[in-house]
Amino acid sequence: MASDPSVFYEGGCTCRAVRYRMTSRPMFVHCCHCRWCQRETGASFALNAMIEADRVELLQGEIERIDTPSFSGRGQKISRCPTCHVALWSNYAGGGDAVRFVRVGTLDEPDRFPPDIHIFTASKQPWVVLPEGIPAVEAYYKSSEYWPQESLARRAALLARK
Ligand SMILES: [Zn+2]
Ligand SMILES: [Zn+2]
Repeated sequence: MASDPSVFYEGGCTCRAVRYRMTSRPMFVHCCHCRWCQRETGASFALNAMIEADRVELLQGEIERIDTPSFSGRGQKISRCPTCHVALWSNYAGGGDAVRFVRVGTLDEPDRFPPDIHIFTASKQPWVVLPEGIPAVEAYYKSSEYWPQESLARRAALLARK
């Protein structure tokens, strides 16, 4: 299913200058409740789909990469539409350029990718009620304990290419 070449997940910014597609399902989806994500979204959490950079294709427009401070202190590069400045994905120091954190809300069908895990729930806004049955951790976690085998294999393949 994940490797079906006919399955694409398209998305874009608000002014529609930038359009992109993911050519497979993401490896894992984070719902991050840290204060940094709350500030960057102006809301209660960020929803990020982690996927190999080469599985995100730009269909239209260009991307502006903005160096932005991050919780880890090592910074992130946020890729934004140069016109409306909506953030489409980030690259963090940990995964480097190889892993993109696609903002799920910019997909045309964001409902397809609910969170696989809730992270940094220690700073979750109190009115947000977490669903039963989805892993939730106070801070961060070990991929080997939560990711499906297939996603771990994809990530290992990425690291081997570096
Ligand atoms: Zn735009
Ligand atoms: Zn966060």
